[in-house]
Amino acid sequence: IKTIGILTSGGDAPGMNAAIRAVTRSAIFSGFKVKGIYRGYKGLLTNEIVDFKTQNVSNIIQMGGTILKTARCQEFKSPEGRQLAYDTLRQHEIDALVVIGGDGSLSGARAFATEFNFPCIGLPGTIDNDLYGTDETIGYDTALNTIMECVDKIRDTATSHERLFFIEVMGRDAGFLALNGAIASGAEAAIIPEISTEVDQLAELIQNGFRKSKNSSIVLVAESPVTGGAMALAERVNKEYPEYDVRVSILGHLQRGGSPTARDRILASRLGSAAIDALLDDQRNVMIGISNDEIVYVPFSKAIKKDKPINRSLLDTLRRLSI
Ligand code: ATP
Repeated sequence: IKTIGILTSGGDAPGMNAAIRAVTRSAIFSGFKVKGIYRGYKGLLTNEIVDFKTQNVSNIIQMGGTILKTARCQEFKSPEGRQLAYDTLRQHEIDALVVIGGDGSLSGARAFATEFNFPCIGLPGTIDNDLYGTDETIGYDTALNTIMECVDKIRDTATSHERLFFIEVMGRDAGFLALNGAIASGAEAAIIPEISTEVDQLAELIQNGFRKSKNSSIVLVAESPVTGGAMALAERVNKEYPEYDVRVSILGHLQRGGSPTARDRILASRLGSAAIDALLDDQRNVMIGISNDEIVYVPFSKAIKKDKPINRSLLDTLRRLSI
Protein backbone atom coordinates (compact mmCIF):
# COMPACT_ATOMS: atom_id res chain seq x y z
CA ILE A 1 0.00 0.00 0.00
CA LYS A 2 1.36 3.38 -1.03
CA THR A 3 -1.63 5.70 -1.24
CA ILE A 4 -4.62 5.87 1.09
CA GLY A 5 -7.92 7.47 0.12
CA ILE A 6 -10.17 8.92 2.78
CA LEU A 7 -13.86 9.85 2.66
CA THR A 8 -16.77 10.74 4.94
CA SER A 9 -20.20 9.35 4.07
CA GLY A 10 -23.81 9.33 5.27
CA GLY A 11 -24.87 11.67 8.05
CA ASP A 12 -22.20 14.08 9.25
CA ALA A 13 -21.09 13.98 12.86
CA PRO A 14 -18.97 16.34 14.98
CA GLY A 15 -15.46 14.91 15.22
CA MET A 16 -15.31 13.72 11.61
CA ASN A 17 -12.78 16.47 10.91
CA ALA A 18 -10.65 15.37 13.84
CA ALA A 19 -10.75 11.87 12.35
CA ILE A 20 -9.78 13.12 8.86
CA ARG A 21 -6.87 14.99 10.43
CA ALA A 22 -5.74 11.96 12.43
CA VAL A 23 -5.90 9.58 9.44
CA THR A 24 -4.08 12.05 7.18
CA ARG A 25 -1.31 12.92 9.60
CA SER A 26 -0.76 9.34 10.82
CA ALA A 27 -0.63 8.12 7.23
CA ILE A 28 1.92 10.76 6.23
CA PHE A 29 3.88 10.06 9.43
CA SER A 30 4.11 6.40 8.34
CA GLY A 31 5.23 7.28 4.81
CA PHE A 32 1.93 6.91 2.91
CA LYS A 33 0.46 9.36 0.44
CA VAL A 34 -3.08 10.56 1.18
CA LYS A 35 -5.89 11.57 -1.13
CA GLY A 36 -9.09 13.22 0.08
CA ILE A 37 -12.27 12.06 -1.66
CA TYR A 38 -15.11 14.61 -1.60
CA ARG A 39 -18.82 13.89 -1.02
CA GLY A 40 -18.50 10.31 0.15
CA TYR A 41 -18.89 7.53 -2.41
CA LYS A 42 -20.30 10.09 -4.82
CA GLY A 43 -16.83 11.64 -5.18
CA LEU A 44 -15.59 8.31 -6.48
CA LEU A 45 -18.12 8.50 -9.31
CA THR A 46 -17.59 12.19 -10.06
CA ASN A 47 -13.85 12.08 -9.63
CA GLU A 48 -13.60 14.70 -6.87
CA ILE A 49 -10.27 13.70 -5.42
CA VAL A 50 -7.35 15.84 -4.26
CA ASP A 51 -3.93 15.22 -2.77
CA PHE A 52 -3.92 15.75 0.97
CA LYS A 53 -0.84 17.11 2.71
CA THR A 54 -0.53 17.80 6.44
CA GLN A 55 -1.60 21.42 5.80
CA ASN A 56 -4.91 20.33 4.26
CA VAL A 57 -6.01 19.26 7.71
CA SER A 58 -4.63 22.23 9.66
CA ASN A 59 -6.98 24.07 11.94
CA ILE A 60 -9.90 21.66 11.56
CA ILE A 61 -9.84 19.62 14.79
CA GLN A 62 -12.27 22.06 16.43
CA MET A 63 -14.69 22.26 13.50
CA GLY A 64 -18.04 20.46 13.30
CA GLY A 65 -19.23 18.88 10.06
CA THR A 66 -16.75 17.48 7.58
CA ILE A 67 -14.37 19.41 5.33
CA LEU A 68 -14.59 16.51 2.85
CA LYS A 69 -18.37 17.05 2.65
CA THR A 70 -20.69 14.09 2.74
CA ALA A 71 -23.45 12.70 0.59
CA ARG A 72 -25.73 9.75 0.09
CA CYS A 73 -24.99 7.89 -3.13
CA GLN A 74 -27.61 5.57 -4.53
CA GLU A 75 -25.37 4.42 -7.45
CA PHE A 76 -22.83 2.94 -5.04
CA LYS A 77 -25.47 0.44 -3.94
CA SER A 78 -25.27 -1.25 -7.35
CA PRO A 79 -22.36 -3.41 -8.60
CA GLU A 80 -22.08 -1.16 -11.68
CA GLY A 81 -21.66 1.93 -9.50
CA ARG A 82 -19.04 0.22 -7.40
CA GLN A 83 -17.18 -0.85 -10.55
CA LEU A 84 -16.98 2.82 -11.59
CA ALA A 85 -15.74 3.72 -8.11
CA TYR A 86 -13.06 1.03 -8.37
CA ASP A 87 -11.92 2.35 -11.75
CA THR A 88 -11.56 5.86 -10.29
CA LEU A 89 -9.53 4.55 -7.37
CA ARG A 90 -7.18 2.70 -9.74
CA GLN A 91 -6.86 5.80 -11.89
CA HIS A 92 -5.67 7.74 -8.82
CA GLU A 93 -3.46 4.85 -7.73
CA ILE A 94 -5.28 4.67 -4.41
CA ASP A 95 -4.75 1.24 -2.93
CA ALA A 96 -6.56 1.43 0.42
CA LEU A 97 -9.64 3.27 1.61
CA VAL A 98 -10.59 4.70 5.01
CA VAL A 99 -14.34 5.29 5.29
CA ILE A 100 -15.76 7.41 8.10
CA GLY A 101 -19.51 6.99 8.53
CA GLY A 102 -22.44 5.07 9.95
CA ASP A 103 -23.77 1.60 9.30
CA GLY A 104 -24.85 2.35 5.73
CA SER A 105 -21.41 3.68 4.84
CA LEU A 106 -19.72 0.66 6.38
CA SER A 107 -22.13 -1.68 4.55
CA GLY A 108 -20.98 0.00 1.35
CA ALA A 109 -17.33 -0.43 2.33
CA ARG A 110 -17.97 -4.07 3.08
CA ALA A 111 -19.59 -4.74 -0.29
CA PHE A 112 -16.82 -2.90 -2.11
CA ALA A 113 -13.98 -4.57 -0.21
CA THR A 114 -15.43 -8.02 -0.84
CA GLU A 115 -16.06 -7.52 -4.56
CA PHE A 116 -12.67 -6.07 -5.43
CA ASN A 117 -10.54 -7.52 -2.66
CA PHE A 118 -9.75 -3.89 -1.85
CA PRO A 119 -8.36 -2.98 1.61
CA CYS A 120 -10.97 -0.92 3.46
CA ILE A 121 -10.90 0.33 7.04
CA GLY A 122 -13.98 1.88 8.68
CA LEU A 123 -14.23 4.49 11.40
CA PRO A 124 -17.51 4.76 13.33
CA GLY A 125 -18.77 8.28 12.56
CA THR A 126 -22.36 8.82 13.65
CA ILE A 127 -24.07 10.66 16.48
CA ASP A 128 -26.41 7.68 16.98
CA ASN A 129 -23.81 5.44 18.67
CA ASP A 130 -25.48 2.46 16.99
CA LEU A 131 -22.45 0.59 15.67
CA TYR A 132 -21.84 -2.74 17.34
CA GLY A 133 -18.42 -3.48 18.80
CA THR A 134 -17.42 0.01 19.87
CA ASP A 135 -18.36 1.59 23.18
CA GLU A 136 -18.78 4.95 21.48
CA THR A 137 -18.95 6.41 18.00
CA ILE A 138 -17.41 9.68 16.83
CA GLY A 139 -19.96 12.48 17.32
CA TYR A 140 -22.06 10.79 19.98
CA ASP A 141 -20.62 12.65 22.96
CA THR A 142 -20.97 16.05 21.29
CA ALA A 143 -24.59 15.33 20.34
CA LEU A 144 -25.31 14.19 23.89
CA ASN A 145 -23.92 17.44 25.26
CA THR A 146 -25.96 19.45 22.76
CA ILE A 147 -29.12 17.62 23.80
CA MET A 148 -28.35 18.29 27.45
CA GLU A 149 -27.93 22.02 26.81
CA CYS A 150 -31.18 22.18 24.82
CA VAL A 151 -33.15 20.31 27.47
CA ASP A 152 -31.77 22.64 30.16
CA LYS A 153 -33.25 25.55 28.21
CA ILE A 154 -36.59 23.86 27.59
CA ARG A 155 -36.77 23.05 31.28
CA ASP A 156 -36.86 26.75 32.12
CA THR A 157 -40.02 27.27 30.11
CA ALA A 158 -41.54 23.90 31.06
CA THR A 159 -41.25 24.77 34.74
CA SER A 160 -42.60 28.27 34.32
CA HIS A 161 -45.71 27.08 32.50
CA GLU A 162 -46.10 23.80 34.38
CA ARG A 163 -46.11 21.85 31.18
CA LEU A 164 -45.36 18.37 29.99
CA PHE A 165 -42.73 18.35 27.25
CA PHE A 166 -41.92 15.57 24.82
CA ILE A 167 -38.52 16.26 23.34
CA GLU A 168 -37.60 14.23 20.30
CA VAL A 169 -33.96 13.38 19.77
CA MET A 170 -32.17 11.55 16.98
CA GLY A 171 -31.12 7.94 17.20
CA ARG A 172 -33.19 6.21 14.57
CA ASP A 173 -33.30 2.68 15.90
CA ALA A 174 -31.19 3.27 18.99
CA GLY A 175 -32.03 4.88 22.32
CA PHE A 176 -28.51 5.86 23.39
CA LEU A 177 -29.05 9.60 22.89
CA ALA A 178 -32.53 9.57 24.43
CA LEU A 179 -31.65 7.50 27.48
CA ASN A 180 -28.31 9.06 28.35
CA GLY A 181 -29.63 12.49 27.35
CA ALA A 182 -32.48 11.99 29.81
CA ILE A 183 -30.12 11.06 32.64
CA ALA A 184 -27.77 13.96 31.87
CA SER A 185 -30.56 16.51 31.80
CA GLY A 186 -32.55 15.17 34.73
CA ALA A 187 -35.57 14.29 32.58
CA GLU A 188 -38.37 12.10 33.94
CA ALA A 189 -38.23 9.40 31.33
CA ALA A 190 -36.91 8.25 27.98
CA ILE A 191 -38.96 6.44 25.39
CA ILE A 192 -36.59 4.22 23.44
CA PRO A 193 -36.98 1.73 20.60
CA GLU A 194 -35.08 -1.04 22.39
CA ILE A 195 -37.93 -1.73 24.79
CA SER A 196 -40.86 -0.46 22.73
CA THR A 197 -42.00 -3.91 21.79
CA GLU A 198 -41.84 -5.16 25.36
CA VAL A 199 -43.68 -2.44 27.25
CA ASP A 200 -45.99 0.41 26.41
CA GLN A 201 -43.71 3.08 27.83
CA LEU A 202 -46.25 5.85 27.41
CA ALA A 203 -49.00 3.91 29.17
CA GLU A 204 -46.62 3.27 32.03
CA LEU A 205 -45.82 6.96 32.30
CA ILE A 206 -49.48 7.94 32.22
CA GLN A 207 -50.29 5.36 34.84
CA ASN A 208 -47.68 6.86 37.12
CA GLY A 209 -49.14 10.32 36.56
CA PHE A 210 -45.88 11.37 34.90
CA ARG A 211 -44.19 13.05 37.81
CA LYS A 212 -46.79 13.38 40.53
CA SER A 213 -44.75 15.50 42.89
CA LYS A 214 -43.59 17.98 40.26
CA ASN A 215 -45.42 20.58 38.26
CA SER A 216 -43.57 20.03 35.00
CA SER A 217 -42.22 17.01 33.22
CA ILE A 218 -39.73 16.33 30.47
CA VAL A 219 -39.68 13.10 28.51
CA LEU A 220 -37.05 12.37 25.84
CA VAL A 221 -38.28 10.37 22.87
CA ALA A 222 -36.02 8.61 20.37
CA GLU A 223 -37.01 9.40 16.80
CA SER A 224 -37.93 5.97 15.48
CA PRO A 225 -40.76 4.18 13.75
CA VAL A 226 -40.84 1.89 16.77
CA THR A 227 -41.52 4.61 19.33
CA GLY A 228 -43.71 6.53 16.87
CA GLY A 229 -41.85 9.77 17.61
CA ALA A 230 -42.75 12.62 19.96
CA MET A 231 -45.56 14.06 17.86
CA ALA A 232 -47.57 10.83 17.76
CA LEU A 233 -47.08 10.22 21.47
CA ALA A 234 -48.20 13.75 22.32
CA GLU A 235 -51.33 13.33 20.20
CA ARG A 236 -52.15 10.19 22.11
CA VAL A 237 -51.81 11.95 25.46
CA ASN A 238 -53.79 14.98 24.28
CA LYS A 239 -56.64 12.77 23.17
CA GLU A 240 -56.78 10.51 26.19
CA TYR A 241 -55.70 12.93 28.92
CA PRO A 242 -56.61 16.52 28.03
CA GLU A 243 -55.66 17.60 31.55
CA TYR A 244 -52.01 17.46 30.52
CA ASP A 245 -50.77 20.52 28.70
CA VAL A 246 -48.43 18.73 26.31
CA ARG A 247 -45.83 20.45 24.17
CA VAL A 248 -43.46 18.89 21.66
CA SER A 249 -39.98 19.99 20.74
CA ILE A 250 -38.07 18.24 17.97
CA LEU A 251 -34.39 19.01 18.28
CA GLY A 252 -33.61 17.86 14.73
CA HIS A 253 -30.46 18.78 12.91
CA LEU A 254 -28.99 21.04 15.54
CA GLN A 255 -27.94 17.78 17.24
CA ARG A 256 -25.52 17.18 14.38
CA GLY A 257 -23.73 20.50 14.62
CA GLY A 258 -21.22 22.18 16.85
CA SER A 259 -17.59 22.00 17.76
CA PRO A 260 -16.72 18.48 18.95
CA THR A 261 -16.20 17.90 22.67
CA ALA A 262 -12.77 16.97 23.99
CA ARG A 263 -13.99 13.40 24.33
CA ASP A 264 -14.98 13.21 20.64
CA ARG A 265 -11.75 14.85 19.48
CA ILE A 266 -9.67 12.39 21.48
CA LEU A 267 -11.75 9.42 20.31
CA ALA A 268 -11.49 10.54 16.66
CA SER A 269 -7.75 11.11 16.99
CA ARG A 270 -7.16 7.68 18.51
CA LEU A 271 -9.39 5.83 16.05
CA GLY A 272 -7.99 7.72 13.05
CA SER A 273 -4.45 6.94 14.07
CA ALA A 274 -5.34 3.31 14.71
CA ALA A 275 -6.78 3.03 11.18
CA ILE A 276 -3.26 3.44 9.82
CA ASP A 277 -1.85 0.96 12.36
CA ALA A 278 -4.51 -1.49 11.17
CA LEU A 279 -3.43 -1.14 7.54
CA LEU A 280 0.22 -1.56 8.54
CA ASP A 281 -0.86 -4.62 10.51
CA ASP A 282 -2.48 -6.09 7.34
CA GLN A 283 -5.98 -5.76 8.76
CA ARG A 284 -8.71 -5.61 6.13
CA ASN A 285 -12.42 -4.87 6.21
CA VAL A 286 -12.62 -3.95 9.85
CA MET A 287 -14.08 -1.04 11.73
CA ILE A 288 -11.79 0.48 14.33
CA GLY A 289 -13.61 0.65 17.65
CA ILE A 290 -12.91 1.35 21.27
CA SER A 291 -13.78 -1.09 24.01
CA ASN A 292 -12.81 -0.56 27.66
CA ASP A 293 -10.41 2.14 26.52
CA GLU A 294 -8.58 -0.27 24.18
CA ILE A 295 -8.53 -0.11 20.38
CA VAL A 296 -10.36 -3.07 18.84
CA TYR A 297 -10.84 -4.31 15.28
CA VAL A 298 -14.44 -5.18 14.53
CA PRO A 299 -15.23 -7.02 11.25
CA PHE A 300 -17.67 -4.98 9.13
CA SER A 301 -20.18 -7.83 9.22
CA LYS A 302 -20.40 -7.52 13.02
CA ALA A 303 -20.28 -3.72 13.25
CA ILE A 304 -23.33 -3.28 11.02
CA LYS A 305 -25.49 -5.88 12.72
CA LYS A 306 -27.83 -3.20 14.09
CA ASP A 307 -28.24 -4.90 17.44
CA LYS A 308 -25.89 -3.00 19.71
CA PRO A 309 -27.22 -3.62 23.20
CA ILE A 310 -28.15 -0.69 25.40
CA ASN A 311 -27.26 -0.88 29.08
CA ARG A 312 -30.64 -1.50 30.65
CA SER A 313 -29.50 -0.61 34.14
CA LEU A 314 -29.55 3.00 32.89
CA LEU A 315 -33.34 2.76 32.65
CA ASP A 316 -33.45 1.80 36.28
CA THR A 317 -31.16 4.71 37.21
CA LEU A 318 -33.41 7.11 35.34
CA ARG A 319 -36.55 5.70 36.98
CA ARG A 320 -35.07 5.96 40.45
CA LEU A 321 -33.88 9.52 40.01
CA SER A 322 -37.17 10.83 38.66
CA ILE A 323 -39.41 10.17 41.66
P1 ATP B 1 -25.97 7.67 9.40
O1 ATP B 1 -25.93 6.53 10.37
O2 ATP B 1 -25.45 8.93 10.00
O3 ATP B 1 -27.27 7.84 8.68
P2 ATP B 1 -24.92 6.07 7.28
O4 ATP B 1 -23.52 5.82 6.90
O5 ATP B 1 -25.67 4.93 7.89
O6 ATP B 1 -24.90 7.32 8.23
P3 ATP B 1 -26.49 5.89 4.84
O7 ATP B 1 -27.22 6.93 4.10
O8 ATP B 1 -27.24 4.71 5.33
O9 ATP B 1 -25.71 6.65 6.02
O10 ATP B 1 -25.30 5.35 3.90
C1 ATP B 1 -24.41 6.24 3.28
C2 ATP B 1 -24.06 5.74 1.89
O11 ATP B 1 -23.42 4.46 1.97
C3 ATP B 1 -25.23 5.52 0.97
O12 ATP B 1 -25.68 6.70 0.35
C4 ATP B 1 -24.62 4.56 -0.05
O13 ATP B 1 -23.81 5.23 -0.97
C5 ATP B 1 -23.73 3.70 0.83
N1 ATP B 1 -24.42 2.46 1.21
C6 ATP B 1 -25.33 2.30 2.19
N2 ATP B 1 -25.77 1.03 2.26
C7 ATP B 1 -25.13 0.36 1.29
C8 ATP B 1 -25.14 -0.99 0.83
N3 ATP B 1 -25.90 -1.93 1.40
N4 ATP B 1 -24.34 -1.31 -0.21
C9 ATP B 1 -23.55 -0.38 -0.80
N5 ATP B 1 -23.50 0.90 -0.42
C10 ATP B 1 -24.26 1.27 0.60
